[in-house]
Amino acid sequence: MTTNNHRVAVIGGGMTGLAAAWALQKARKQMPIEYELIEASAQLGGKIQTDVTEGFVIERGPDSYLARKESMTRLAREVGLEGELVRNDTGQAYILKDDQLYPIPGGAIMGIPTEIGPFIRSRLFSSIGKLRAAQDLVIPSFTHENEDVSLGYFFRKRLGDEVVDQLIEPLLSGIYAGDLDTLSLQATFPQFQQLEAKYGSLIRGIKASKGKQSQSQVGKKQGMFLTFRRGLQSFIETIEQHLDEKAIRKKTEVRFCEREGKRYRLTFNDGTVQTYDHVILTTPPYVTGRLLEPYVDVDYMREMKATTVATVAMAFKSEDLHIPYEGTGFVVPRKSRYEITACTWTHKKWRHTTPEGHALVRCYVGKPGSESIVHETDEAIVEQVQKDLDQIMTVKREPLFYKVTRWKKAMPQYEVGHRYKLEKVRQELKKAMPGIILAGAGFDGIGLPDCIDQGEAAVATVLEEIL
Ligand code: FAD
Repeated sequence: MTTNNHRVAVIGGGMTGLAAAWALQKARKQMPIEYELIEASAQLGGKIQTDVTEGFVIERGPDSYLARKESMTRLAREVGLEGELVRNDTGQAYILKDDQLYPIPGGAIMGIPTEIGPFIRSRLFSSIGKLRAAQDLVIPSFTHENEDVSLGYFFRKRLGDEVVDQLIEPLLSGIYAGDLDTLSLQATFPQFQQLEAKYGSLIRGIKASKGKQSQSQVGKKQGMFLTFRRGLQSFIETIEQHLDEKAIRKKTEVRFCEREGKRYRLTFNDGTVQTYDHVILTTPPYVTGRLLEPYVDVDYMREMKATTVATVAMAFKSEDLHIPYEGTGFVVPRKSRYEITACTWTHKKWRHTTPEGHALVRCYVGKPGSESIVHETDEAIVEQVQKDLDQIMTVKREPLFYKVTRWKKAMPQYEVGHRYKLEKVRQELKKAMPGIILAGAGFDGIGLPDCIDQGEAAVATVLEEIL
């Protein structure tokens, strides 16, 4: 490219990078800019990978997104894929305790009880555990506005250890694959801190905000998640089709990023070099840190932990699998002896994924401090998963096929102080490397809509700086 246009590089073609590229493509109509989307691997999508096999739609990474976070639905509409969206079937979800599944008490939101009846009746907790949780109603708020504490500290102090270990921890770990006692409250669920401050109790606060929501959704009990009929990868492919083919560079890894006056020189794996005015980095923090190392203190980015997990999808004939529970799946407390951390009965939660007469089960293995199973062979992982499942349901015959997908250092851990430390990095970056922008799952939210928000916000910053 040899124009005088403002040149923007987007590094990383995952959800964040694609959202940024699409925003730049739209902006290009009004402004003299050019962009390039640079992706190390042979395909776009990053953590999003769908495998369509023998009529099954199998998600190897994420399987859906939270419907109330609207940016993903909006983006689907913009690329003409809204009609392909599917909402999950609702059903009972369970917690595994002592080789048995216990229903998550009705009304629990992220594990926080908001209805007294189902909570009192639940056999998941002892009477002492229930009484301790009720103290949330009388314990005054204890965190200060700008104070960050761990999720574990916050919830344990408000609701007690039992509710945290049996319910909140397995539910939240399902999202972050992290250790509740080190994860940052402010970087993950700041709304809980705000509710505590406003209502002096989590139970009262969540009940109040739930009340407001249900007034506007009377009678509509519907699933909270959305995905695409042909899988999340179909969304990635559709966005790709909307981008300028010449602006996408796959199998191109950025090796170095150097400042050259007011511009940035990127060196790629094939030894070639290109210069840009702005660079949006959507790579995982350890890669981003490596690229920026000569210019800013990147210790935080390099040290940030990320959990390694694997997903194991197994397809069965219906008659070969007996699940003695009605529902959509279960999660497993971290302290249990099981290797699986969660299991979705996908054919029940997402009916479109499974052909008639079949069943599809998807499990997770790998948790902080116990990730070694992920490095075993596929066969060993599947054997262990089946051993765990045998305690809960009857697997009469071997699966028709299975898919094991390892995700190494894939779930970034926002530990206490994350926001503050990240802000420091950004301030330093602004001075030493203006025009370099950080975005993506390692920074301001790991959910797919959060990644889209970050990609779009990065482009908004570029446009502001150009004007
Ligand atoms: P990535 O998808 O990691 O993309 C980064 C890209 O950068 C990659 O494609 C990589 O190849 C590329 N790259 C790296 N280094 C370089 C380099 N030097 N040069 C060029 N390119 C480079 N979220 C949900 O909302 N719902 C879910 O159900 C859900 N489930 C999940 C299940 C699993 C197993 C995992 C791992 C995550 C899940 N998440 C879920 C989280 C969500 O999938 C991720 O946070 C999100 O996809 C990350 O997108 P990203 O673009 O920020 O990063």
